[in-house]
Amino acid sequence: MEAFQYRDGELYCENVSVKRLAEEYGTPLWVYSQAKLLHEFKAIRDAFAEADPVICYSVKANSNLSILELLGQAGSSFDVVSGGELYRVQQAGADPTKVVFAGVGKTDGEIRAALEANILMFNVESEGELDAISAVAAELGCVAPVALRLNPDIDAKTHAKTTTGKRGNKFGMDIERHNELAAKVLADPHLELRGIHMHLGSPILTTDPYEAAAKKARDVVRQLRAEGHETNWINLGGGFGLSYKGDEAPPASTYAEVILPYVREAECRLALEPGRSICGNAGVLLSQVIFTKHEGGKQFVIQDAAMNDLVRPAMYDSFHRIWPVAPRVPAPVDYEAEIAGCQPVDVVGPVCESGDCLAKNRWLPELHRGEYLSTFSAGAYGTVMSSNYNSRPRGAEVLVDGENARLIRRRETYDDLIAAERLA
Ligand SMILES: *Cc1c(COP(=O)(O)O)cnc(C)c1O
Repeated sequence: MEAFQYRDGELYCENVSVKRLAEEYGTPLWVYSQAKLLHEFKAIRDAFAEADPVICYSVKANSNLSILELLGQAGSSFDVVSGGELYRVQQAGADPTKVVFAGVGKTDGEIRAALEANILMFNVESEGELDAISAVAAELGCVAPVALRLNPDIDAKTHAKTTTGKRGNKFGMDIERHNELAAKVLADPHLELRGIHMHLGSPILTTDPYEAAAKKARDVVRQLRAEGHETNWINLGGGFGLSYKGDEAPPASTYAEVILPYVREAECRLALEPGRSICGNAGVLLSQVIFTKHEGGKQFVIQDAAMNDLVRPAMYDSFHRIWPVAPRVPAPVDYEAEIAGCQPVDVVGPVCESGDCLAKNRWLPELHRGEYLSTFSAGAYGTVMSSNYNSRPRGAEVLVDGENARLIRRRETYDDLIAAERLA
């Protein structure tokens, strides 16, 4: 399903002209498609239906309250990695009893808040964390549900900054230690072992890493059961691929095909933590051309979205399709090839960093001051990673549903920039 399509030479989100949204709300502007968010959530849920899965949408991919509310109402649960994300899930009116909580550095305060919210389980990432959770649970007089986050030592062949399941990453505990750690949980009256968790990294475009992880998970569950543990959950994390360029990412059903047989053999319930694959292609970032210039033998397009808005190109060298909102040249199928009627340009922002570049040597039609551009696949790890660097207020966010558009976060003001600061 395509949420964003060119019709009569103009970009639409569902049935709303995005140019109209840019004119009404200004730029930089984030535009999301409600139908696309729901479509991708349901595709995962249906693909894995056989395992009665709990789909824990990964809040860190896009944590806007309206998006959490929408997915919660569609039956999604949530994967949080901080007390702040747990707070957001609660503020969005979602059910915290199906929440899973990952992260290598949970503080006592965060552990307490999660126990008080009665979450489904902690994905525990170190032995020290097991001790801390046990201590807080003892204080509250409760039993804390935990899953061991195991590092399966699988190379998911993704960017060095987003691979998480390879031996030596900071995440989880070495898989060989599962027996020793499970024994520790069993001996502790304030801990209950619910299952095991693995998250391999992101985005993963092939199914091999998931197959290897699911197989290891099945084997660990069997060994734990043989030791007398009741382990009923396998959580295989998130990381499903996203089509940033064309259709390079397989559908959810392809991942399900390799994962489900092992979950069936392990006789476990399945938890998943997809983020990017649900919201990534449900959002675009709209910007407006401020200037163009030709210097040093290069053509530059300077527009008003910058690395403080979308940091992925600067941080991970990631590729985002970019095309005018009302183009004179039809959008290409292949954005990396030479395009007739276009020239290679660097699309840059106003931030004072050479790394502030959304695209390098990208074929684009001639652009003029005031024209709007759309940066695609910006729904995941966009706003959540944005900052106020260079004292730039964050842009607004709009959610489209059919013919309607609703503001779900207002544009920040200069007053917002200094609101938390104090003069003597
Ligand atoms: C980031 C993260 C995810 C989500 O990854 P996506 O690529 O957005 O699907 C899931 N689980 C954990 C533990 C994570 O840190």
